[in-house]
Amino acid sequence: MDVEIEERLKEVLATLPEDVELVAVSKFHPEEDILRAYCQGQRVFGESREQELSRKQAVLPKDIRWHFIGHLQTNKVKYIAPYISLIEAVDSLKLLREINRQALKCDRRIDVLLELHLASEETKSGLTLDECRALLDGGEWKEMEGVRICGLMMMASLTDDKEQIRREMTSAADFFDEVKARYFADAEYFNRRSWGMSDDYEIALQCKSNMVRIGTKIFGTRQ
Ligand SMILES: *Cc1c(COP(=O)(O)O)cnc(C)c1O
Repeated sequence: MDVEIEERLKEVLATLPEDVELVAVSKFHPEEDILRAYCQGQRVFGESREQELSRKQAVLPKDIRWHFIGHLQTNKVKYIAPYISLIEAVDSLKLLREINRQALKCDRRIDVLLELHLASEETKSGLTLDECRALLDGGEWKEMEGVRICGLMMMASLTDDKEQIRREMTSAADFFDEVKARYFADAEYFNRRSWGMSDDYEIALQCKSNMVRIGTKIFGTRQ
């Protein structure tokens, strides 16, 4: 079954327009599987648990760009701050402050995305649109030299209703335009729209996503 990681990676890449970045979501999959994708040229991988990520980061090639895609607890930031390439799911000012603090300690500026909560499930994390506006209106982030807000991330509802998924992703895309115009009009780096996973990335591509996070479709089912 796992002889096909290389094939599946190629298939996924073939469906992505050139300006869309693939984050290969490797959580729960072993280092060998990551190396197989790496050998095909894949360099961006997504993980959602700090301990698992740190274990893998220690032994895998150093030119891998790791994205933290899960909910990040503030007390874990210090462990990933030295090497993380993008923290995708910032869902509070408190977390943003801690990332800034830890980044400055290691003389870095860490790229982050703000996570939006647009799904119908209560359990999903992220900022509502109003919370996101409030965070940006607060302006504290402008003084943070250790972080750079590069765009927005969201997860659509887990549903078979494609129209609902499309509505949520369209809201995210519209909100991106609003935020871009209001706060980042001159900031070229604010350009990431991270939505789309194995089951819904085709819809995401139609809704202006330029960063898809795909696990199962490449690495198979997680244990
Ligand atoms: C696990 C995960 C993914 C990948 O999900 P698949 O359905 O396996 O592609 C994408 N984004 C986040 C935030 C995840 O936690």
